[in-house]
Amino acid sequence: MSEVRVRFPPSPTGYLHIGGARTAIYNWLFAKKHGGKLILRIEDTDAERSTQASIDGIIEGLTWLGIDWDEGPYFQTDFTADHQAAAQRLLAEGHAYKCFCPKEELDAKREAAMAAKSEVGYDGTCRQLTPAQVAEKEATGIPHVVRFKVPQKMGMVVFEDKVIGRVARAYTDIEDFVIVRSNGMALYLLCNVVDDIRDRISHVIRGQDHLTNTTRQILIYNALGAPVPEFAHMPLTLDLKKAKISKRSHGEIVAVQFYKQNGFLPWALLNFLVLLGWSPGDDREIFTKEELIEAFSLERINKSAAIFNYRKDDPKFITDPKAVSINAHYLRTLPVAEIAELVRPELEAANLWDAAYAGDKKEWYLKTIEMLRERFHTLKDFATIGRAFFADDFEIDPQALEKNVLKHPDLKTWLVLLADRLEAAGELTPEVSEEIAKGLAEELGIKPGIPINAARALITGQVKGPSMFELFGHFEKSKVLARLRRVEQVFANN
Ligand code: GLU
Repeated sequence: MSEVRVRFPPSPTGYLHIGGARTAIYNWLFAKKHGGKLILRIEDTDAERSTQASIDGIIEGLTWLGIDWDEGPYFQTDFTADHQAAAQRLLAEGHAYKCFCPKEELDAKREAAMAAKSEVGYDGTCRQLTPAQVAEKEATGIPHVVRFKVPQKMGMVVFEDKVIGRVARAYTDIEDFVIVRSNGMALYLLCNVVDDIRDRISHVIRGQDHLTNTTRQILIYNALGAPVPEFAHMPLTLDLKKAKISKRSHGEIVAVQFYKQNGFLPWALLNFLVLLGWSPGDDREIFTKEELIEAFSLERINKSAAIFNYRKDDPKFITDPKAVSINAHYLRTLPVAEIAELVRPELEAANLWDAAYAGDKKEWYLKTIEMLRERFHTLKDFATIGRAFFADDFEIDPQALEKNVLKHPDLKTWLVLLADRLEAAGELTPEVSEEIAKGLAEELGIKPGIPINAARALITGQVKGPSMFELFGHFEKSKVLARLRRVEQVFANN
């Protein structure tokens, strides 16, 4: 393959959403796989809708995901001279013409075309104007747009898409589309091609929603005598009801920022998004960066729509459960020290961070992370579900009461007894703790799970978690005793 040069050209009119991020990821992987270059180009020609906040958000989102680019960001508005020159050239060489038709007339023609189920709303009225007629209209100051001259002959625009295969569209189905607005600004279809030619783009990898743009843009490449890049159109992302996912209907879960704010690891989100529309051809779902680059190919992008499995009416689902389970996988398996670093800002934000966790208590902190991460799904869980490890003011999960863990009235004496025995013992190793807890249960003639589960609720606030025998010795002894002896008060309050 000759030099691979791909691009990610977002319009900065909103935040980076997961569909855009997936486009960026596929381009990035393709460039990495072929030793090529990824170009970031901000398509900011829509002055009314483009914002600096959006540009910053897109760059921040890509950076957070770990997507690096080789050139750019370029800004489309820095190249308006190129766009104008291309429009002039198309006019001069007879590939485009000025159209003076008034809006009302165009609207009526479009409506008539729609009624006739035709895709061609404009009939080429101004295509027939002589140079003298054009000059005359211009002299009277009638505004005009510039339209591209679609060949008026039998035939088709044909291209071989890397994902969907052969795509063909008859010339007769393409109207003479506008390339320059009446205010003189070149439009997306033209700017995008001019920029791709200048940036020597070899492969255009974008969503299937651009398919009809592609057939029109190929005509522009041909008219400008430029080589046509390869195209790969990715499937759309739909929800369970087959509706396109969007901010309006799905809210913040479609924003990359949402995942950052909700304790997702960037690589976990990237790994999830890659699988939304691509598969390696085997049953692997978890990849290192190197493995993903190795496995990725445009040919394995799915033709049919990707389904984002999100049930907004079910509060249990923060987002697609697969994204959550991939995140949990990485939480459990990446080096503990790495996870501990990522948890730190979460604790800081919740006022739970103790400077000693980076000093004297570092070992304890790492061990805590190691124990907790087994059951956790996001980085947020450490500061919420795991709060009792970092603070004394924590709530006991109401489930502890519902599940009878803290129901038996005698627990009030049993747990105080347990505290006394633990106090009298020396160091609370897991073995010592087990012996004490089981010994006490035996003496009382109850199942060991009864005092142990109740102790867990009082010490960690949770009904599930790491082995309680390990936890007795993990917390400071005075904390263990105080929390067990709080049992009276907990009963009194419930
Ligand atoms: N600015 C366009 C968009 O965000 C770029 C599409 C493309 O050509 O890739 O949809």
